[in-house]
Parts: sequence; structure tokens; C-alpha cells
Amino acid sequence: MSKISLLAFDMDGTISVSKTPLDEEISKTLGEILQNRKIAVITGADLPQLEKQVIIPLQKVKANIDNIILLPTCGSQFFYYVNGKTTKMYSEDLSVDEKSKIFIALEYAINQTGSKPEKIYGEQIEDRGTQVTFSAIGQDCPVDVKSTWDPDMTKRKAMKKILDELLPDFDIKIAGLSSIDITRKGIDKKYGMMKLLEHTKIPTEEIIFFGDKLVPDGNDYPVIETGIRCILVQDHRHTNSILKEIISKRFEYIKD
Ligand SMILES: [Mg+2]
Repeated sequence: MSKISLLAFDMDGTISVSKTPLDEEISKTLGEILQNRKIAVITGADLPQLEKQVIIPLQKVKANIDNIILLPTCGSQFFYYVNGKTTKMYSEDLSVDEKSKIFIALEYAINQTGSKPEKIYGEQIEDRGTQVTFSAIGQDCPVDVKSTWDPDMTKRKAMKKILDELLPDFDIKIAGLSSIDITRKGIDKKYGMMKLLEHTKIPTEEIIFFGDKLVPDGNDYPVIETGIRCILVQDHRHTNSILKEIISKRFEYIKD
């Protein structure tokens, strides 16, 4: 039996529907946990997206967000809350040089592969500080248009091949329905969770991680290597039911 001090979660597909705010039910459950425990959320998304999907719904149910840690862009950024105010622990931003290298490589890859769509909705290349995200048809593109652009990933695989060659110091990840995320090499959820352990000083055995992609090639899979106990979930409803069970056992200890 180990004491539980912190529950860590992936966001999309684990505590919410992809790109969607937490529903009221899981917000209330998480609110209950936050009364006396810490919660961390680790995702490839950036801080504004995390605040929209997680923090605002939790504020609606008056949860104690001072017990939350946010790890946007896989933990290359680390935020926590003091009296409800976002506070930065660190942000490992790409340098101006690194960013311009990435922008030039992206332009080249777009031209070489001819993957220029006729219409672009909003920003196509987004600077997220620690990550550059290429959204083929733009950030604000409707999902139905997005999902038909590159369903078998052929276009993005062709771009990735070029980018891998041009940017050997970076990780090129095919993400979402029409995106490519570019970060410094070695930034994944294992990296972020190791940062969490380092900065909170919470022992590994007092943490549980929940993810919907804890399978080989899934973006939660690297967390397994940290030695943190991991729970594979189907969706946010599944997570919610496990959390309720943990709460009903008074949440002090959990069976190994
Ligand atoms: Mg997920």
C-alpha cells in the first residue's frame, strides 16, 4: 500500500474529449480531489489551450486550482497557481536562431511536397515558445475539413522525411488531424514527468498517471519508463469512474 500525493493526467481523451473543455461531472470529481491533493496535467497542447479546457471548467465548480500543476508542451513548460494566479516555474523556449531554422525548413518542406492547401484558416505556423506547430490548413480550420486533408498521413510523412533531414537536432512529430509538432530532441511525456518529480520532490511511488495512449507509439507510453504507476483509460468517463472509486476509499492509500 502506498500513499497517494499526486494524480497526473494526460488531457485529450483522458479527462476530456479531444480539444473540448472538461465536462461538469469530471470537473466536480477533480474539484473534490483538489481539496486536499495535487493534480498535474501533462499534454502536447499549450498553456492557453490548457486553461480553456481545464482551468476555466474547474473554476466554474469552484475547485482549488492552487493544487494544480500544468505541464504544457510535454513539460517543456511548468506552471502552477498561487491564489488562483498562473505562476511560471520555467519555460524552455526555443531560441530565435532555432525558430528561424524551423520556419525556413517548414517553408521548404511545404514547397517541396506541394502540400499547400487552397484555403488556410487562421495561423498555419504557430510559435508556441517551446514548440513550433505546423497546422496544414490553419489553427482555426473546421474539424471536418481537417479530417479529410491527410487521413492516411501521407502528406505529413513526406514533410516529416524532409524535416528530419533538415532539422537533426529536433523531434518532428505528426500530431492531431493535420499538424506537425517540432520541439527540441527528447521532449516527451517522460521528460515532462521527470521534471515534475524533480520540482515537486514527490516520491515516484506516491504518484499515479492516467493516460489513454499508454500503448507502444502512443504519446503517453514514455511515462511508463519513469517507474510511475500508470493506468490506461478508455476515455474521460472511464477516468471519472476510477477517480470516484479512489475517493470513496478515502484516497489515503491505494492497493499495490
Ligand atoms: Mg490523450
